[in-house]
Amino acid sequence: MQREPYSEREVAEGIWLVAGFHGGGIGVNAVVLSSKDHTVIVDTLMVPREARRFARRFQRRATEPLALVNTHWHTDHTAGNSLYNCPIWGQKSGARFLKSYWPRWMGGPRDKRAQGLRMKLPDRTFARRASIDLDGEELQLIRLPGHTTDSIGVWLPDRRILVAGDAVMELPFLYFGGNSQDAIRSLRQIRRLRPRMILQGHGPPSSYERLEADIRYLVKIRLAARRAQAGGETRGKFVETPLDEFLPPSRIRALSEPWRRPHYLHWLNLHRVWAEAFKTRR
Ligand SMILES: [Zn+2]
Repeated sequence: MQREPYSEREVAEGIWLVAGFHGGGIGVNAVVLSSKDHTVIVDTLMVPREARRFARRFQRRATEPLALVNTHWHTDHTAGNSLYNCPIWGQKSGARFLKSYWPRWMGGPRDKRAQGLRMKLPDRTFARRASIDLDGEELQLIRLPGHTTDSIGVWLPDRRILVAGDAVMELPFLYFGGNSQDAIRSLRQIRRLRPRMILQGHGPPSSYERLEADIRYLVKIRLAARRAQAGGETRGKFVETPLDEFLPPSRIRALSEPWRRPHYLHWLNLHRVWAEAFKTRR
C-alpha cells in the first residue's frame, strides 16, 4: 500500500497548494486557482488514487474546472489528465515526450502504476505564451524551459504569484529532458519578475531571493564539466564532485532531508552537464 500524505493548504486567497505522494520522501504539488465561480487546476498529482481524490473534489460540486494546465510533461504532473474533461493547456514541445515516456513510466491502463488512468495530451498548446481569464484575473502561461523543454509557469501579474512547476525546485534538476543553459535563462527571468511567492512543483513555497544560489550552482557545474573534460578527467570521477563545491553550506542546510541526503539529484545533474559539455566539444 502506498502512503497517502494528501494535503491541501490555502496559501493565498483562493489559491490552494495540494501536496501528494511522490517517493523518496519527496512530495509532488498541484495547485488550485479559484475565483468565486470557477477554478483552474495546475498539474494533477502522480499516484492514481490521489489524482482521483483531487479530481473528485471538483466533480462533487458538478463543476468541471475551467482549465487544467500541465506545467510540463513529466508523469508525476500529468498522470491524472484523463480524469478531466476541460481544456488542457501545455507547451507544444511536450507531447512528443509524454507519448514516448508514458508507456515506460505508467504503462497501459491495466498496469499497476496507471490503475486505469490513460495518457491524455494537452489539447490547448502554444509556443511562447498564452493566457487564461479566471473571471477577470489574468493567468499568464509563460515558457520557462530548462527542467524540460516544455516547462511553463503560471504567472499571476496582479498578485505577483508564480506557479513554477519544476522550473523551480529545492535543487534545480535537469536530468530527464533538461538543459542547463535554458534553466539558467529561465531562473534569471523568474528573478526579474520578483514574485512575491513561488509555488514549486515539489516542496514548500519559495522566495525568488533564493534563486541567485541556484543560478550560481548551474553556472558552476557547467564550467566544472568543461574544465574537467579539458583536463582529461573521467566522467566517473567528475560526477562524484560533492554538492558543497557548488552550493553554499547555508543553502545545503536549508534543503529538506530527502534533497540533501544522497545528493542523488546533484549526481544526475552532473551527468547531464557532462553530456552537454561533451556535445559542444565535438
Ligand atoms: Zn518534473
